[in-house]
Amino acid sequence: MTSESKPAHFLQNIIREDLAEGRVSQLTTRFPPEPNGYLHIGHAKSICLNFGLAKEFGGECNLRFDDTNPAKEDEEYVESIKRDVEWLGFQWAGKAKYTSDYFDQLHQWAIHLIKEGKAYVCDLTPEQAREYRGSLKAPGKNSPYRERSVEENLDLFARMTAGEFDEGSCSLRAKIDMAAPNINLRDPVIYRIKKMAHHQTGDKWCVYPSYDFAHGQSDAIEGISHSICTLEFEDHKPLYDWFIENLPVPARPRQYEFARLHLNYTVVSKRKLKQLVDEGFVDGWDDPRMPTISGLRRRGVTPASIRQFCEMIGVTRADSTVDMGMLEYAIRDDLDKNAPRAMCVMEPLKVTLTNYPEGQQEMLKAPGHPVRDDLPSRELPFGKTVYIEQEDFREEANKKYKRLVLGKKVRLRNAYVIQADEVIKNEAGDIVELLCSVDLDTLGKDPADGVKPKGVIHWVSADSHVDCEVRLYDRLFNDESPDVGDKNFLDSVNPDNLKILSGCKAELSLAEAQVGQGYQFERNGYFCRDSKYGSAEKPVFNRTIGLRDSWAKEQDN
Ligand code: ATP
Ligand code: MG
Repeated sequence: MTSESKPAHFLQNIIREDLAEGRVSQLTTRFPPEPNGYLHIGHAKSICLNFGLAKEFGGECNLRFDDTNPAKEDEEYVESIKRDVEWLGFQWAGKAKYTSDYFDQLHQWAIHLIKEGKAYVCDLTPEQAREYRGSLKAPGKNSPYRERSVEENLDLFARMTAGEFDEGSCSLRAKIDMAAPNINLRDPVIYRIKKMAHHQTGDKWCVYPSYDFAHGQSDAIEGISHSICTLEFEDHKPLYDWFIENLPVPARPRQYEFARLHLNYTVVSKRKLKQLVDEGFVDGWDDPRMPTISGLRRRGVTPASIRQFCEMIGVTRADSTVDMGMLEYAIRDDLDKNAPRAMCVMEPLKVTLTNYPEGQQEMLKAPGHPVRDDLPSRELPFGKTVYIEQEDFREEANKKYKRLVLGKKVRLRNAYVIQADEVIKNEAGDIVELLCSVDLDTLGKDPADGVKPKGVIHWVSADSHVDCEVRLYDRLFNDESPDVGDKNFLDSVNPDNLKILSGCKAELSLAEAQVGQGYQFERNGYFCRDSKYGSAEKPVFNRTIGLRDSWAKEQDN
């Protein structure tokens, strides 16, 4: 599905008209994350939209850190956000920008409003201010400080800025309308005192602009033509426009809203994701179970599949929840087309081929991919002892079981047909080894007796393989909507969301597996090497996703 084959969405239509009718000469968008956490899949929707539109219409997209609240922000988040945007395949125009780059200008504009009689210093405590604000049904009341003179306001704001007052003791508010039906217009706070160092500006400031005051003005400074945000800012738009109209800004950006991405079986809120990290439910922001961009990357999800997913879900103004299966579909689709094939035995069972010459080893060849001739073929060492999956053998089975059964035959993938002759058990009665015979006249052809084995199973050489650990992830939550209503989302964390298999045996080619390269472990799913755990001798592989959607079925059983 490409943008060419899909009908245009409302923002594409708006932009096309604005350009055609000359209302804007060049499209400029921005992606404005607050550096207070790692980006998640919801942000990917906004990134693909903003950068995608800029690309489509020959414009530019800025990356702007919306850093007006030093209390929750951190340089670590700044770096992670840059890495994630680039990894998704996008490049911002020029240098990364910060709202804090504009603190001087914003401060001057606050003074401009005071001079125009459109802003005042208010000494109501936060609780009093809330009371005066009124409610959706009741209008607000004017603050007793609303009629301070311009001179007094200039003096008080200068003293606020100089650090003379305590946090919370006063704030600068725009003088708009305490009876406005839209609460955002009831004299919103535009500057507040925060005696706190900032990750970009250090100790320079002890007053910081509010998001509402900073955002539109930053858009204007950067010449943003279309300021695209999510629907919860719809009610802020009159305020956005009020500031633009009442300040000598260099441009007139316009705000447009679209629906956020909600995804079932997970949460997309930095605050909640941070809680999962801080309370140890996961092993960091980039834990492969997290819906963060860095978690998805570590899990082996490709940037192309995230972009494809964002294309599939489209852009509308209607709030809805997207099924996780859709993201999984996009991930699987991309990996199926591009991931080299390999074999890995998760729970090994030793198989000795009694009639294979002792000490002999040969090299078999296997294709890198069933249809992609450009992917290199693999060399598979084959010898007297191999490992197969424990669950691929049964002493007895009915006809539906198309794997190895005692006395019957099966084909080892890309290799020979073998027959199970004898089972060796330990004292506890567990099967510890199989003695099989191999038919060496079956490479790429059926056995001479014409009896074609029904099943094909994967295997690895016991002498030449890579010992590895495999991590099987399941959904992070077992509730479809973990954070809807009164629920505490932490209550529905899926306790079985990680299974570690530490005695796995992978084919030799996987010794060279690179982080970021996905593989299909034949019959097992898609995997990639973990970037954090494992060693050269014993890599760790994360299961990105299973071969097909078995999840819904398992839940029904
Ligand atoms: P969170 O609630 O996770 O903190 P946020 O909106 O506060 O999200 P920001 O850093 O302010 O996070 O977001 C940067 C941009 O990404 C904003 O334009 C925001 O609208 C957009 N965005 C955030 N979450 C989503 C989402 N779930 N779907 C689409 N866009 C999103
Ligand atoms: Mg935010």
